[in-house]
Amino acid sequence: MNATILRAVLPAAFALLLADRPPLAPNPLAPDEGQWLPQQIRAMNWAALEARGMQLTRDEFWHPERGGVLSAAVQIGGCTASFVSADGLVVTNHHCGFGAVNALSSTEHNYLRDGFVAATPAAELPAPGMVVLVVRRIEDVTAKVHAAQAEATSDLDRWQRTQEVIRQLVAEGEKEPDTTCSVASFYEGREYHLYYRTRLTDVRLVYAPPRAIGEYGGEVDNWEWPRHTGDFTFFRAYAAPDGSPRAHSSDNVPFRPEHWLKVSADGVQDDDLVLILGYPGTTERYLTSVAVADREGVFYPLRLDLLTRVLAVLERQANRSEQDQLDYASLIKSLANVQKNAAGMVWGLARNAVVARKQREEAEFRQWLAASPDRMARYGSVLDELLAADREASRTTRKDLVLGLALSSRINPFLRGICDLVAATADNRDGRGSGNLRRRFGSDALTRDLQAVQQPLLAILLDEVRRLDGDDAFAGRTALRPETDEPTAQVVAELLQSPLTTAAGRISLLESGPDGLAASADPLVKLALGLNAERDAMVDRSRNAEGRSVVLARAWIEAQQEWRGTSFYPDANSTLRVSIASVKGYEPRDGVRYTPHTTVAGLLAKHTGTEPFDAPAALRTAAESRRASRYFDPRVGDVPVCFLTDGDTTGGNSGSPVVNGKGELVGLNFDRVFENVSGDYGWSPDRSRNVSVDVRFVLWCLESVLPAHHLLREMGVWRDAPVPGAKRAPAGAR
Ligand code: ASP
Repeated sequence: MNATILRAVLPAAFALLLADRPPLAPNPLAPDEGQWLPQQIRAMNWAALEARGMQLTRDEFWHPERGGVLSAAVQIGGCTASFVSADGLVVTNHHCGFGAVNALSSTEHNYLRDGFVAATPAAELPAPGMVVLVVRRIEDVTAKVHAAQAEATSDLDRWQRTQEVIRQLVAEGEKEPDTTCSVASFYEGREYHLYYRTRLTDVRLVYAPPRAIGEYGGEVDNWEWPRHTGDFTFFRAYAAPDGSPRAHSSDNVPFRPEHWLKVSADGVQDDDLVLILGYPGTTERYLTSVAVADREGVFYPLRLDLLTRVLAVLERQANRSEQDQLDYASLIKSLANVQKNAAGMVWGLARNAVVARKQREEAEFRQWLAASPDRMARYGSVLDELLAADREASRTTRKDLVLGLALSSRINPFLRGICDLVAATADNRDGRGSGNLRRRFGSDALTRDLQAVQQPLLAILLDEVRRLDGDDAFAGRTALRPETDEPTAQVVAELLQSPLTTAAGRISLLESGPDGLAASADPLVKLALGLNAERDAMVDRSRNAEGRSVVLARAWIEAQQEWRGTSFYPDANSTLRVSIASVKGYEPRDGVRYTPHTTVAGLLAKHTGTEPFDAPAALRTAAESRRASRYFDPRVGDVPVCFLTDGDTTGGNSGSPVVNGKGELVGLNFDRVFENVSGDYGWSPDRSRNVSVDVRFVLWCLESVLPAHHLLREMGVWRDAPVPGAKRAPAGAR
C-alpha cells in the first residue's frame, strides 16, 4: 500500500541545457522538449498553445481539483493506459499487457499467438498482475519533507528521515477511504509531491490482437522506424458495486471513471499538435560529464554484452517447444527490449558526443560562476562536489550491474533463492523457519530448468563475479576458484552438486540456523554469504548517495535555475506528465528523410510469412478491401498504421494516450526511434521522435481483422455497430 517513489538519484544533477540548443536560449513557448507536470502545463502560454491547435481550455485539460482530459491517463504496471469508455475500458500497448496475455495462454488457448476477444463482459478474463492506478489529487508536501531533512546529522540519517516522513505522509493520506498514496521527489529532492490514487486490482483482459500484429516486426523493428506494429491491447477495470476498489469478485461491476477519452477516427496530419499524456519512468538529463562517460564507457556496453549472452541461452530453450516458448516469452521480450536499448545508448551517446557537450557546458558554468563573487559564494563548490561524487559512484558500476543481474529472481531464481535462504537461515535463531519460508525454499520453482537454463546463465554471470578484481572484486568469489584456469562452466557445474539443489537440502539448511550456516563447508553457501554482503553494501551505498544528493543536487538546481534564467522540467520519475509535440518526420542520416506515417501497404510489404514478419491471414484478407474502410485516409492513400511525433517521451510512456487539440485519442505511444534511445540524456529537435500506433489502425483491427464491434460501439466510434450475438452481419466498411 505504501508504494513510495523516492528516486534513487546517485549522481547529482548537472547540465545546463537538456539538448543541443545553445546555452541560455530562451524557451518561452516550451517547444517540444519537456515532460511537464500538470501544474506546469496550466502555467503555460495558453494562447501559444491555441495557435498550435489546442482547443481545450486549461480547466478542461486539467483542473487541480476536478481533473480533466489528463485524468483519463492512468498507470498500469510500468506503463501508461487510458480510459476510453464510461465503463472502465482501458487501452494500453500490447507489450504492456504481454505478461498478462502470456500468463493466460496455454498450448490449448494460445492467446498470445492467436489473439483474444471477449465477446461479452462475462468472457473477460482476470488479468494476472495488472493493476490500474488513477491519480485523484496531488499535494505539495515539500515543506514537511525538507523540515525532516533539516534535522539530519549524516547522509544516511537524511535518507532515513526522508523515508520516515514519507512513510508518515503516506499513512496519513491513506486514512482517506479507498486511497493509495505515494510520494515522489522532483528536481533531486527540491520538491516532494504526495499523490492520492485509486488502485484498481480487478483488471480483466478484453481484447488482444495476435502477437503477429501486436508485436509485428519483433526485435528487428523494435526501437526503429519505419514501423508497422499494432501495439495495443484492451483491458477493463472493475470495482465493487458502490464504485470502490476491490479485489476480483464475480459480482464486481465495471469501474466508472470520472474522465475518459473520446476516440477520434479523424486522424492526424503532418505538423498537427498532439499531447502525450503519461508516466515517463526515468530520464537523466542533468548528469555530469563524468556520470555520462561512465554510462557510455562501462554501464551500457557491459549490459549489452551480458544480456546478449543471456538471451542466446533463453532463446535456445524457448525454441524447443510451444510450451517452452510460452514459459520464456515474457522474460525474453523484456530482456531483449533492454538489450536493444543498451545498444542504442552505446551508439547514441557516442554519436551525439554527449560527454563532450557536457564538458563544454561545465566549462561555461564555471565561467558564469567566476563572473560573480556572490555566485561563487553560493555555488562555487557544487560542480566539483558532484563530479567527485560521480567518480566515486563509478568505481562500483560494474559490480552493481553484475550483482543486479546475478541476483535477479527472473533470470536466476535458484541463485537468488539460495542467497535469500542463506540470509533467512542467519536470522533463524530458533532453527525452525516459518511456514512461509519453508514453502518458498522448498518450492521446485527455484530449480526449474536448472540444468538446461539456469546453469548456463550462472556460468555467464558468475564468470564476471569470478573475474572482476581490484575495486570490483566480489566478496565470496573464492568459492569460484578464481585463481585456477578451470572454465567457469565447470566450476558452476560443481557448485550445483550442492545439496541445496534439493528441497530437502534447503529446508535442512534453514533449520540448521546460524550455527549450521557457520559450519557449512558448501561452496554455494560461501558464495551466497559473499553476494549477500555485497548486496547489503550496495544498498548502503545507494542510501548514502541518495541522502547526499538531496543536499548537493538541491543547490545545483538553484544554480541551474539562476543560470538558465527560465523554467525547466524535472527528470522523469514515473509521475503524471504531459509532452507537447507535433507530428513530424526526421532525417536519420545524410540523404535520408523519414515521413511520419506508415500504412497497411508498408506492413504487407514487410510480410515474409516468417516471424517476426508473419502478418496473420485475417489481416491480409481484410487488407484486400481496405480502400472501402472508414479508416482509409485519402491523405496517406491507405489505412495508416503508425506515426511519428517529436514528443519528449521515455520508457513508462508506453501506452500513453496521444491526444489531439480537442483532447481526443488519436494514437498510443509505444516506442522511440533508434536515434532517440539516448534521448534520456537530452532532447533534440532533430532526432527526438516517438512512435505511436495510429488509433485508426486499432479501430480497423477491431472492425475488420479480429472483430470486436461491440468495443467500437462502446467507444462511440461506431454507434450503430451490431450487438454481440445478434445475427445482423456487420458492415466492415462504409
Ligand atoms: N518501447 C519503449 C519501452 O517500453 C518506450 C520508450 O522507451 O519510448 O521501453
